[in-house]
Amino acid sequence: VVGNAQWQERKDAAMARGEGNLAPIFIDRAEGSEVWDVEGKRYLDFGTGIAVVNTGHLHPKVKSAVAKQLDHLSHSCIMITPYASAVELAERLNTLAPGDTPKKTMFVTTGAEAVENAIKIARSHTGRRGIVAFDGGYHGRTMMTLGLTGKVAPYKTRFGPFPGEIYRAPYPIAGHGISDEASLKALDTLFRTDLDPADCAAMILEPVQGEGGFYPAPTAWLRRLREICDEHGIVLIADEVQTGFGRTGKMFASEYAGIEPDLMTMAKGMAGGFPIAGVVGKAAIMDAVDPGGLGGTYAGSPIGCAAALAVLDVLEEEGLVERAQAIGARFGTALEGVQRQYPHLIGDIRADRGAMIALELVRDGSMAKPNAALLKAVLAECHKRGLIILACGMYGNVIRFLPALTISDEQIDEGLGIFGEAFAAAAG
Ligand code: PMP
Repeated sequence: VVGNAQWQERKDAAMARGEGNLAPIFIDRAEGSEVWDVEGKRYLDFGTGIAVVNTGHLHPKVKSAVAKQLDHLSHSCIMITPYASAVELAERLNTLAPGDTPKKTMFVTTGAEAVENAIKIARSHTGRRGIVAFDGGYHGRTMMTLGLTGKVAPYKTRFGPFPGEIYRAPYPIAGHGISDEASLKALDTLFRTDLDPADCAAMILEPVQGEGGFYPAPTAWLRRLREICDEHGIVLIADEVQTGFGRTGKMFASEYAGIEPDLMTMAKGMAGGFPIAGVVGKAAIMDAVDPGGLGGTYAGSPIGCAAALAVLDVLEEEGLVERAQAIGARFGTALEGVQRQYPHLIGDIRADRGAMIALELVRDGSMAKPNAALLKAVLAECHKRGLIILACGMYGNVIRFLPALTISDEQIDEGLGIFGEAFAAAAG
């Protein structure tokens, strides 16, 4: 057989370096929380393709919904001759989105496109230009979303200039010495020095920062942002691309703060591995754009809609939103055990946002001393032992766990057992 090493060699020769891969593991097939590589080796999957297969790989209901859809229609283009499933999906998302204000939905294909369109809608609604984004935020790889993204390497390196009228404020992370007050003060200064709030169209934030390091937005801070946006007529956009669809133990992470965003972007977990994304928001804002101003050839494809409807059914039928909280608790307890053994290497455990769990690796027990070298070693040891885990964080020192919400307790314990051994091997 042609193994992982040969495929990696061929990939390096055939595919652009920029589209790099975390692990030299070539996946052949997957089921639930398990994947198998081209050499037949089994792995537990604590990464779900970056928070995508929340319902597990190839959930039977999602698979059969897609198979059934393939007997009817794969494409007709939503902007030409639409189909019922898109309407049904929009109706369900409008109901699920937090808050009582009537909602509307528009579909696209990827998370970055959803963010692009949320900005377009906010500008069209307000007639304003300025957009405020936050340090450490991640919103995608297109030019506008790169401009919004608050981390240079590797995302933005040598890709500028980015679109103008993007302003940045600090995201509050208590563990890194940035209080809610400091963030709000900086925002106030921004509004006095650079951007007239009357010319600010939108603020965009992740209710739990994803790529930036799995930092939940403090409730009081998010509520205050909601008030500031209301005071100035600014559109508040919650980027729920990574946090949506039960991942954090709520259907959407904005619910933790009890706020109603004006617009929400969603993708990833929405359709269990089939590409579809959307913007859901207050109807009056969503309808600011004239017909023809939004769309895309593959926007809300029939396959994506069928998969997404099945995912919503599965989340509900299997109680997966609540299950995410139990998963977080189980990880939290086990990871505290690892921290007790290595208090100088683990600065923080974040396990209170469902199945969006992180471990921040440090030196000398200090959050000011990120330990990216240890992270690299732990990842390699895990992958070697048959456990897929991912990394994130401004300093490349945060391990992130994104298990499927369908994972069993036995699989969690097996994976955490492997993790403990891998950590010990890496810590030396
Ligand atoms: N926003 C957030 C919060 C994300 O986590 C991501 C993807 N990691 C994106 C936007 C971009 O989504 P996509 O890769 O589907 O374009």
